[in-house]
Parts: sequence; structure tokens; C-alpha cells
Amino acid sequence: MTTISKIRNIAIIAHVDHGKTTLVDGMLKQSGIFRENQVVQERVMDSNDLEKERGITILAKNTSVRYQGYKINIVDTPGHSDFGGEVERVLKMVDGVLLLVDAAEGPMPQTRFVLRKALELNLVPVVVVNKIDRPDARINEVVDEVYELFFELGANDEQLEFPVVYAVARQGVATMDPDEPGQNLKPLFETIISHCPAPQGDPAAPLQLLVNNTEYDPYIGRIAIGRVWQGSIAGGQTVAVIDHEGNIKNFRVGRIYVFEGLERLEVPRASCGEIVVVSGLEDIKIGETIADKDLPVALPAITVDEPTLEMT
Ligand code: GDP
Repeated sequence: MTTISKIRNIAIIAHVDHGKTTLVDGMLKQSGIFRENQVVQERVMDSNDLEKERGITILAKNTSVRYQGYKINIVDTPGHSDFGGEVERVLKMVDGVLLLVDAAEGPMPQTRFVLRKALELNLVPVVVVNKIDRPDARINEVVDEVYELFFELGANDEQLEFPVVYAVARQGVATMDPDEPGQNLKPLFETIISHCPAPQGDPAAPLQLLVNNTEYDPYIGRIAIGRVWQGSIAGGQTVAVIDHEGNIKNFRVGRIYVFEGLERLEVPRASCGEIVVVSGLEDIKIGETIADKDLPVALPAITVDEPTLEMT
């Protein structure tokens, strides 16, 4: 189990083609390699093969990467406002966001909505200016444009002090100084760890887990995805599910999974701060709270999409 202080939960906000897939792929490839005495895993083929096999972009699901004992959960964010409710739900699982911006194109209007939501939710932003290798890159101007955008969207003083990481995601490198080319993505990992806050919460308190998303998995049936806000949840445990009307019913959860790289890893128990997948709750709905059966307390509701949008 990863202790709460060693977890970071982030989302990436990026306009299409600004390099989100490439960056996450690079982070996955370099995941774990900055740890002493650890065998470097060749993940290049893994992720590409998986991607091909499933015919999806790796970001269709949540991923996690490891850096020096830290676990960074990266949740996927829909790119624009057509998924308003979903954007909000996803952002409510994280504490920080990476705003990824192409060094030539600059911030694009389609990401304004998502960024605005992130700032409203008080998330801590890190700006990544990607593709600084482009001959037409306008690095300083783009940083100014991002600053301007934050200002327009009502960012608070702390948010306006966002760190800027400069990247060439395609080469798997990042740097804090655009004149000094990077060697790897270490500066990006370091910035996420030092700048984005660790989750808060008491692992010994009664369980509270907010269901941010539900999916159907052909192997394990209906699954709920959400963040444990308090306490911990174990496979096979009896929990209370609190619905939108405040009705409480007891259920037995099936298995608990966390995100490990591109995979879901079954764990006996997951503690607060973690983003988990819970199986076995066949009627679970978005926005419901999974709580301690003896002390069931609901978490604040979250926006639920219209049925039509939920199909997309
Ligand atoms: P996404 O739509 O945001 O996921 O973008 P992708 O990761 O698919 O990247 C879009 C295109 O930009 C691809 O052709 C990438 O190879 C290219 N790309 C990504 N990172 C860089 C970079 O750092 N420099 C350059 N020049 N191209 C990049």
C-alpha cells in the first residue's frame, strides 16, 4: 500500500495533438527508473503493444507512474466542454492538474472550460510547455498567453504562481530552463511531487469513497471508480452505499483494484488518497458514497451527466 504522503493525484488538461498521449507514454516508460537498486523495466513495448491490442489510446483509462517511492495517479480528462459533468467528476478526484500546451500553438479555446473548472475547484496547476523543439516554437509568448488565460479565468494568487516545465515529450525530456535541454522527465516528476499536494485524510477514520465513474467490465462486471477520501476499503468487506436520496443499503464489495502503470492491480485493501476500482456492486451509481456500514456518512454530491452524455 502506498502511504498517503507518497500519493499524488493529477489530471492532464490538453488540447488535442498537443502531446498528452506522448507525454504520458514517456512518463510510463520512465516510471520507476529513478529508483536506486531497481531493475529498469522495458515498458516501451508493453505500452505500445497494449495500445495496439486494445485499439485504444492508452489514455482511455487511468494510469499511474512511480517516481522515487511516490505514486502518481493520472486520470484522464475529457478535452472539452461537451462533457461538462464528466469533466467535473474527473477533476474532483485529483488535487493537481498539468496544463499541457503546444509551444507553437499556445493555449487553445477548447481547453478553457476544463481549465476554468480546475481553477474553480482550487486544483494546483503545473504548466507544461511541450514541443519546444518545434522550429516555430514561441516559448516565452506562449507562457505569457497561459498567464493571461489564468488571469482571465480568475485564478487565485497561488495558482498564478504556477511552475512551468518545458518538454519535448517525443524525446521523453523535460527541463526547467528552455535554454538547457533536458535529459529525461525527472524535472517533470520532481515538479509534480513538490508542487502538487499529497491527498489529505485519515486512513483510520470510517470509510468514505465517492463514486466518480462507473463502467462495465466484461470480466468483472459493473465497476465503480472513485477516490477514497477517508478510511480504507478491503475486498469482500461489507459497506454501506448511500444513494442520492440519502437511502442507505448494505452490500458486500467484490474486489479492490488500484492503477499500476497501464494495468489494474488487485489489492487486499486501499487507503484514503488512492483512486480505486471496486467490483461487485451491481447497482452502484455515479455520485453515490460507499461508506462504513456502522457509520455511513455521505460525501457532497457531484454532477451527474444527462443520460445521453453518459453514453458517449
Ligand atoms: P494528444 O492528442 O494530445 O494525445 O497528442 P499526441 O501525443 O498524439 O501527439 C500529437 C502529435 O504531436 C504526434 O504526432 C506526436 O508525435 C507529436 N509530438 C508529441 N510531442 C512532441 C514534441 O515534444 N515535439 C514535437 N515536435 N512533436 C511532438
